[in-house]
Amino acid sequence: MDTLSSPVLQEQPHIRSSEDRYSRIRLIRELDFGGIRSSRICVVGAGALGNEVIKNLALYAPSLMTVVDSDRVDYTNLGRCFLFDRSDAETHRSKAEAASSRARLLNPDCSVECFPMDATTLDHTFFSRFSVVIGCVDSIRTRLHLNSNCYYAGIPYIDGGIDGLNGRIQVVLPPRTACYECTLNGSHMDSVDSEYSCGGREASFPSRRIPSEPAVAGIVGSIQSLEAVKIVSHLRKEGTLLLYDGRTCILSELEVQFSPICPNHT
Ligand SMILES: [Zn+2]
Repeated sequence: MDTLSSPVLQEQPHIRSSEDRYSRIRLIRELDFGGIRSSRICVVGAGALGNEVIKNLALYAPSLMTVVDSDRVDYTNLGRCFLFDRSDAETHRSKAEAASSRARLLNPDCSVECFPMDATTLDHTFFSRFSVVIGCVDSIRTRLHLNSNCYYAGIPYIDGGIDGLNGRIQVVLPPRTACYECTLNGSHMDSVDSEYSCGGREASFPSRRIPSEPAVAGIVGSIQSLEAVKIVSHLRKEGTLLLYDGRTCILSELEVQFSPICPNHT
């Protein structure tokens, strides 16, 4: 019988005593389940991507999952962030706190801590505590900060981004692979500069609102969480840059070269 069409998702009448909520995951021999359970994972950004990553990883119950986000829930988040509800929006609850509490409800085995603060105020000493750091943020400036601090600390960094029907995932494994900053061109850096005023302080004008499609966010966030699981299972040996096109449902892999002007490799 085709396993995809078999009633495997139906409740089984005879559950063996050795089976628990993780028994189906343990059947995947390539994964190091013990390594996953003992890992410490940091998720920066609890928006559309972060919701997906936090949900997937909470089901594994790593040793520690840390959620960092300085933003608060509003009604526009409810269209793409399933971990938040109406009361979170009404009270403008911290995204990090709301997502962390829902993750604990999803799996009480999961130890979750939240940092409702700007990730750019955290340096490499903070990120060096983790097995892997996952970036789920819109801001290029924040992604550059995560990338450079993780690279300096030697911690794997998984960057994710969405823009409408397009998605992007990059796995950075320092010092072996090129990094996120290696992939940026002049226009990217111009957009970073636009986040600052002429005096170098943060500008007060709003940044561009990124179009967000729930299924694309789900796909990109799921790949990010899978890559994290592969890293702590020692299955991911090389870095990668994946581009997802939601129009064709094609995932393309690109080779990333070290940039001779990237400051992270000097
Ligand atoms: Zn680089």
